[in-house]
Amino acid sequence: MKFTLYLVVLFSAFSSFAQTRQRTIAVTIDDLPVVSTRRDIKNRREITKKLLAHIKEAKVPAIGFVNENKLFNGAERDEEQIDLLRMWLDAELELGNHTFSHPSADAIEPEAYQADILRGEVITKELLKTKNTQIRFFRHPYLQTGSKMEVKNSIYEFLKVHNYIVAPVSIDNADWIFASAYDKAFDKGDKKLMKQIGDAYVPYMESKMDYWERQSVKLFGREISQTLLIHANFINSDYFDDLAKMLKKRGYKFVTLEESLKDEAYRLPDNFTRRAGISWLHRWALDRGKDFVLPNEPLTPDFVLKAAGVESE
Ligand SMILES: [Zn+2]
Repeated sequence: MKFTLYLVVLFSAFSSFAQTRQRTIAVTIDDLPVVSTRRDIKNRREITKKLLAHIKEAKVPAIGFVNENKLFNGAERDEEQIDLLRMWLDAELELGNHTFSHPSADAIEPEAYQADILRGEVITKELLKTKNTQIRFFRHPYLQTGSKMEVKNSIYEFLKVHNYIVAPVSIDNADWIFASAYDKAFDKGDKKLMKQIGDAYVPYMESKMDYWERQSVKLFGREISQTLLIHANFINSDYFDDLAKMLKKRGYKFVTLEESLKDEAYRLPDNFTRRAGISWLHRWALDRGKDFVLPNEPLTPDFVLKAAGVESE
């Protein structure tokens, strides 16, 4: 009996050691080239440059998901905006499709959604061709995959036919609320508030990491290879270096999305059919029953919600 207990203790000590050593994460960045109230090209270039410098410094094989409607000025192609994507490719990062105009799968007809997917790949494909690579991944805007099973399945089927791999998200979070608060504080010239928001951002993201790691263990008895969603925004251009440091400190190795999706957890189906855009970990948890959803998911601090002008998450 005692010996068995000893073995159990030894085994769990070993597996937790192995777990910390084996943590992997893919960083996926949405709404390229930039999502910010800072719309002029000078600011957008600065955001892109700083974000890419942090990514390079931390050696993160990130993937960016593009909304091509941002690459137009009216009906005209806007080469200055397209140049921002060229900066991503010159940094040897992959680009994926995030639709042309960022619709919700529930807001428009499936045919219109499909047309938006195809319209959203034209320039990205052209750019990837210059690097002898192809477009592979698709990310649903708002993580909304369709609240009717037939709509959802028709989109999944359409993506498959067009050789897209759906890019799931395990580490969902509200970086976009922090970003909105940060942008608004900047627009008001409130540097003190910007600093407060920035100071709260990485600790908030760390609390999310902790939550999703535990949710992962609850579901799978282990931590899966994680897929983080963040956005190409001003706050990440200022804080991605700290974010990457936090992840490294937690024992994460940065891997490509392709590598992360080799984890067998991602073979599980996505049967979620509600409007909300939620983590795939919660989709799988709900499949097994509400008790599998880990309670007390960390919330965005009130002062950040207020600064962003958002009522609740
Ligand atoms: Zn998006």
